[in-house]
Amino acid sequence: MRVDFRNGAVAFAYRSTQQLRYAYRLFQWLRWKPVAYLAPWLANIALRLGLRPLIKRYLFDLFCGGETLEEALKTAQNLYRYGVQVLIDYATEAQPDEQGREKAKKVFEQILQLAHNKPWVNAVALKPSALGNIDVLEKVQNHQRLTQQEQKQYDAFLERMDFLAAKAQQLKQPLYIDAEESWFQATVDEVCETLMQRYNQQAAYVYTTIQCYKKNSFSYLKTLYQRAEQKGFYLGIKLVRGAYLEKERKRARKSGYPSPVFATKKETDETYNNALAFCLERLENIGLCIATHNEESCRKAVQWMEAYQIAPDDQRVTFSQLYGMGDHLSFNLAKAGYNVLKYLPYGPIHETFPYLARRIKENSSIVKQSHLEYFLIAQELKRRRSEK
Ligand SMILES: Cc1cc2nc3c(=O)[nH]c(=O)nc-3n(C[C@H](O)[C@H](O)[C@H](O)COP(=O)(O)OP(=O)(O)OC[C@H]3O[C@@H](n4cnc5c(N)ncnc54)[C@H](O)[C@@H]3O)c2cc1C
Repeated sequence: MRVDFRNGAVAFAYRSTQQLRYAYRLFQWLRWKPVAYLAPWLANIALRLGLRPLIKRYLFDLFCGGETLEEALKTAQNLYRYGVQVLIDYATEAQPDEQGREKAKKVFEQILQLAHNKPWVNAVALKPSALGNIDVLEKVQNHQRLTQQEQKQYDAFLERMDFLAAKAQQLKQPLYIDAEESWFQATVDEVCETLMQRYNQQAAYVYTTIQCYKKNSFSYLKTLYQRAEQKGFYLGIKLVRGAYLEKERKRARKSGYPSPVFATKKETDETYNNALAFCLERLENIGLCIATHNEESCRKAVQWMEAYQIAPDDQRVTFSQLYGMGDHLSFNLAKAGYNVLKYLPYGPIHETFPYLARRIKENSSIVKQSHLEYFLIAQELKRRRSEK
């Protein structure tokens, strides 16, 4: 099935012309590297100066589903009218204390419960750093001895993750566990594997995330697959390239260890596409989420699905893009019958700010992405004007 990724009328039908104008202006600014670089800082100042409506209009509303779960569910319902479901996320970052982590667990439980049986919600996403102390997770990764208090915190983290995974399985509502920085990710990977073994006996309800910019990602995927096959459980895999490129390199440089991420984009792209092919060839025990804004990877996925006779609406494969990005992929894929999830974060503006800043800044490739988004939005605005 050929997918026309350039159909702007389909891609942006869910946005009003006013919203598209705001998006146009944002991407117009972000096309310039110095602005993209300074934007998170400027936005932070604007927020402190009380220019909340400005941030809401030009940033928050473009990338977030709302300030409350109810608002986010309404946004999700609108997307569903265009054939797209959501992967909903409470956009909180690393919590500073156990009280915050316990609160985050309750919020994720509430999302699982409320999203249950809503056809516009396909799955719930969670960040492990919202549930556990990342310093403790790092110590576990480095086989360092934990103090009594740290051990308590680690046990509480395991309990929270297990509780939510069990809930996800019970409600048949997939739970996607995000991947974060490499210095504690190996601990999270191990926990995810245990949860998949425990709760993915009948189908993939727990999804782990593979970051393909990591040099060891493909060998890890293959080993994980072998273990799942031997132990007889389904793998839930969200394939991403990875969001912390600069941070990973900087820390490796500073601490004097070899960078865990590839030196070139080409290597990351090749690894992503190899991992994609690997998973599509083994769908009998894999649930796969192709999480990318890369058009070439999406094209390859469509071609390979056709070659392997995987129906576009096969429930084992979903495509996913972040809300406010890659609409040309999401909505045109959905129109062609593929399963598409928009990753939809929500939360109070100040809490979502680190997420918003990452959307602007996460790496230098955002500038290239902004050029494309800008071009497509400009084209669509022009088309709408000519229709009048
Ligand atoms: C639904 C969804 C969920 C996501 N969840 C996570 C998550 O849990 N964890 C996470 O880390 N990220 C996550 N991301 C973000 C993702 O990892 C990427 O940062 C983002 O999607 C950009 O990559 P891309 O595949 O869309 O496209 P592209 O724009 O083609 O690729 C950009 C990516 O390529 C890599 N890259 C760029 N330049 C270089 C270079 N010089 N050398 C090596 N590699 C390079 C980087 O990973 C960069 O982010 C998610 C993205 C989506 C769409």
